[in-house]
Amino acid sequence: MLIPKRRPTVPVPVADVLVGGGHPVVVQSMTNTDTADAAATATQVAELFRAGSELVRITVNNHAAAAAVPEIRQRLDDLGLRVPLVGDFHYNGHLLLTEHPETARCLDKYRINPGNVGRGDKHDQNFATMIRVARDFDRPVRIGVNAGSLDQELLSDRMEANARSATPQDSDAVLLEAMVESALQSAHAAEHLGLGRDRIILSAKISNVQRLVRVYTLLSERTDHALHLGLTEAGMGVKGIVSSTAALSILLQQGVGDTIRVSLTPPPGGARTEEVRVCQQILQSLGIRPFLPSVTACPGCGRTTSSYFQELSQRVAAFLEQRMPEWRKTDPSVAELEVAVMGCVVNGPGESKAAHIGISLPGTGEAPRSPVYIDGAHVTTLQGPTLAEDFLALIEDYVAKRRPQ
Ligand code: SF4
Repeated sequence: MLIPKRRPTVPVPVADVLVGGGHPVVVQSMTNTDTADAAATATQVAELFRAGSELVRITVNNHAAAAAVPEIRQRLDDLGLRVPLVGDFHYNGHLLLTEHPETARCLDKYRINPGNVGRGDKHDQNFATMIRVARDFDRPVRIGVNAGSLDQELLSDRMEANARSATPQDSDAVLLEAMVESALQSAHAAEHLGLGRDRIILSAKISNVQRLVRVYTLLSERTDHALHLGLTEAGMGVKGIVSSTAALSILLQQGVGDTIRVSLTPPPGGARTEEVRVCQQILQSLGIRPFLPSVTACPGCGRTTSSYFQELSQRVAAFLEQRMPEWRKTDPSVAELEVAVMGCVVNGPGESKAAHIGISLPGTGEAPRSPVYIDGAHVTTLQGPTLAEDFLALIEDYVAKRRPQ
């Protein structure tokens, strides 16, 4: 399979997860609970972790939130979940990290937004305070620049310089360049303060797809720091998923990005874990990293007058998801399994042969028989009321046979 080559970056350990340096692209997510509510936050962190989030970020926005972090860590430890926790700091991180040393210790990484650490001398002092805490506790940081909270002094300085230039650029270009500069200057300052290059991850998030691609392309050309990718404020539902997928796919295909997050707005009461699944699907669709066996299913058309093949596709997908935790214990490579569920003879046999195991259901007017193909060869034909169970049994059997002895 064609797999995009990763751009070389300096690996950064976050607890026992390695980000960058050619290691698998890491999936991460963020809670939306009140961090001060340790029970609710630990529960959501656990859900995200179990869904596959390899790092989980929590906001640490006030003293109550900071005070709750050790309890959150303890609750996760009690569940036996060694989840790397990332603390998200804005405005008062210098105070919270110094006044709550146990919190600084319990967190595995700090996210610092250089646009939200104060102005003028205070900016440098507050930033330095947080970097020293990271250095002293040997914790990595993400220097997370965001277009919505970009260092205003830096931006107006660059805008004014551009206005005076004989060949001014458009304001978009100046904004993106300022984002890159903010990230690189901050990284340089952190290294000057004694934080190793292998303790720094950079991000430069913006909510527009083309701008995001541009800013990360610029950033990746100018540094070998590990990069965290994400389209910020991607939005809800299909729009959020498609925009994030478009942006991240272009960059990942170019080898840019060592860890990703998809910032979806869930509907009220909606599952936060959706953003984890989307990250996994992006990586899996690009062939970068498999997580779950994939189901190739045709969209259906006038040749499929019943919904049977849709139901079977759904059932197969649910079966694979349910069985994967068990299969993974003995053979993690099962995640690369490809299963086809097709609706008629037009593309059914072809796609079924191309998959590891596939079934071609009969379309309208075809005889009610469903040939099954394994590794490209026709092995049996299923029909009758137990067709679904029989096909699932064949999948189970196939997985058992490929298990390493
Ligand atoms: S495989 Fe058959 S049923 Fe499925 S979309 Fe193609 S023509 Fe339609």
